[in-house]
Amino acid sequence: MTITSAVSAARQILTRLHDVMASRSHAQAKLNTVVEVIAQGLDSEVCSIYLLREGMLELFATQGLAQEAVHVTRMAIGEGLVGTIAGNIEMLNLAEAAAHPDFSYRPETGEEKFHSFAGVPIVRRERAVGVLCVQHMDPRRYEEVEIEALQTVAMVLSELISNAGLVDEEEAAGLSPMMIGPQRLSGLTLVKGLASGAAVFHQPRITIEHVMAEDRDAELQRVYLAFDKMREQIEKMAAQAEFGVGGEHEEVLETYKMFAYDEGWSRRIIEAIDSGLTAEAAIERVQQRTRMRMRQIDDPLLADRMHDLEDLSNRLLRIVSGQMGTAASMGLRQDSILIARNLGPAELLEYDKRRLKGVILEEGSLTAHVVIVARAMGIPVLGRVRSLRAAVREGDLLLLDGDQGNATVRPVPAATEAFEARFAKNKERQAAYAALREVEPFTRDGTRIQVLMNAGLRDDMPNLALTGADGVGLFRTEFQFLVSATLPARERQTRLYRDVLDSAGDKPVVFRTVDIGGDKVLPYLRHNDGEDEENPAMGWRALRVALERDGLLKVQARALIEAAAGRTLNVMFPMVSEPWEFDAACAVFEGQRKFLKGQKKLLPEAIRYGAMLEVPALAEQLDLIAPKLSFLSIGTNDLTQFLFAADRANPKLAERYDWLSPAILRFLRRVQLSLAGHQVDITVCGEMGGRRLEALALMGIGIERLSITPASVGPIKELVRKIDLPEIREAMAGWLSAPPPSLREALTRWAQERGIECD
Ligand code: PEP
Ligand code: MG
Repeated sequence: MTITSAVSAARQILTRLHDVMASRSHAQAKLNTVVEVIAQGLDSEVCSIYLLREGMLELFATQGLAQEAVHVTRMAIGEGLVGTIAGNIEMLNLAEAAAHPDFSYRPETGEEKFHSFAGVPIVRRERAVGVLCVQHMDPRRYEEVEIEALQTVAMVLSELISNAGLVDEEEAAGLSPMMIGPQRLSGLTLVKGLASGAAVFHQPRITIEHVMAEDRDAELQRVYLAFDKMREQIEKMAAQAEFGVGGEHEEVLETYKMFAYDEGWSRRIIEAIDSGLTAEAAIERVQQRTRMRMRQIDDPLLADRMHDLEDLSNRLLRIVSGQMGTAASMGLRQDSILIARNLGPAELLEYDKRRLKGVILEEGSLTAHVVIVARAMGIPVLGRVRSLRAAVREGDLLLLDGDQGNATVRPVPAATEAFEARFAKNKERQAAYAALREVEPFTRDGTRIQVLMNAGLRDDMPNLALTGADGVGLFRTEFQFLVSATLPARERQTRLYRDVLDSAGDKPVVFRTVDIGGDKVLPYLRHNDGEDEENPAMGWRALRVALERDGLLKVQARALIEAAAGRTLNVMFPMVSEPWEFDAACAVFEGQRKFLKGQKKLLPEAIRYGAMLEVPALAEQLDLIAPKLSFLSIGTNDLTQFLFAADRANPKLAERYDWLSPAILRFLRRVQLSLAGHQVDITVCGEMGGRRLEALALMGIGIERLSITPASVGPIKELVRKIDLPEIREAMAGWLSAPPPSLREALTRWAQERGIECD
């Protein structure tokens, strides 16, 4: 079936269904004709409709299966293929139905001669009220266009069924048993922190009243107008972006604009209207399709972009249906926790920040735009919470524990009290750390430890003043690339780097050139041959990409040099494995410096070059590049994964190897010693340095510079002030030459004996 024939098949079916439903016959007679019409229209041997009755999915009408089975065959939600479709609200398309693990054979239907099976849920108010399915004798999967036609028909059926009073909507929409009493929901922490508040649904439900169009041209007109209005809104939002022009939000809004003007999207909506749907139904239809696609994409970054599209689609639906308000437009009346399937970053920015305390999402990922924005706003986010919207009601009290990765709905008073106590303690601790902002971190014996912070977004920069960090030891420049829909232009890069330097004032900032590839895939920058890598962490990433696509590095070099005009530029390269890679990267920068000098441009006062030590091979050749290095930054996140051959993203290995192992600490000490006598600053910039016990061990082997997440700056400063360096160095020297069974335990005991609090 071609797209055109699918559209016209759907249109024909819809026109005939309209007539059938307008006729004065009985509900059952109507359904019998409906399955006939659909079977014929889709050229299908079987067409059946199951509807929800008394909590079971009952075969209400069929063309092709045994008529004796009608009102006899019943499936529970979750049982058999039909129950699975209704339970998951997801279609199934199978070449061989019996091969599916959920297949449940019902002899009374006589379905054994049919092999292929496709079914879609019939949805009313976000709940499945039935299932529409087709079957064929020959074992083949249905084509996408056929599934689309089936879904269009299912949408129309849901309206017809509801008008005919064939399902008890109260029953379908009724409270599930999950809605009563306290309940613990677990998910994935996307932004850490604690929050409590009343549940607020981001999207008050939009009900699509009419699915079948009376006047195609009028529907087209409505959708065109809605598109215009939506584009206007996006442009307006871009003009008054919350954090000023040039923020990450600008990048995000660029992505929005790209979708808002995407012709493929509007064309599909128009096609759906052509097949006979109203504007609302057409938008929803295309959105369903997007969601289906989204589930099949395993590229998280691309999936995030699809969420942006979903955000826009909701906006369009609200405009066209006149049901404009999200919870944001109605205003938050109390401390609130926002509930959504997913959320667009622009939508998040519409909320009153004083009352928005936390966000819980059914979907979401660490790299999603909305999460990046929430992190910058300091709002805890819990993601990947299954059945969220089935378990929470508007107004329910919620305790969001973004440290433990869970949330409690309708907590008992004792749980609320315990939570409040933790919350207060947390606040107290934060206040104590904030008080250390102006205090310089000297150890008891008088050594000044450099406590720097890691950053990646413009919005991270205020943390420098808030925490009193000594500077930015690692600025992850790839973040700008990750939040953009297209490669950021040079001017845009320059602007960001200049803003970052301006906001840092006298404090140093170390820019790391883009570390893309690995788990940070950019859809617009694929490997030459476009193939997925088996081992992306050890693949075409970081400096390897930058040196091969040296246009990319040249642009970045020029942006950095221009941004640092008249100041010192600190730049470092990620994943240096061989000295020549460092030399080649420096040469690109020097080439740009020379070019700009020729152009009589104001240059940086100095460029200080550094390498990241993340690949163990470099440790064996440090003496060779030491004379050229101003500094070395040890990225322990990557370094440990390579030392232990343990993927840092693999949750099964997350607890297996300890940063406090003699292997790592001996390795780091050796690096430290091999650079003794050279003028090279050594910093540790991996997550390890932000944890108290690990930081203690690092200082114990001679590390005096740590670059860590801003939230750790206070706790680490406090630690520094409690330790006596000669004492911990002596202890570490002993442990590393004759390691105790557990270095972690030994260190913990050592710290406890001295009244030093550890994590
Ligand atoms: C590291 O690998 O330790 C590091 C700081 O870089 P990233 O976490 O960005 O890979
Ligand atoms: Mg790294």
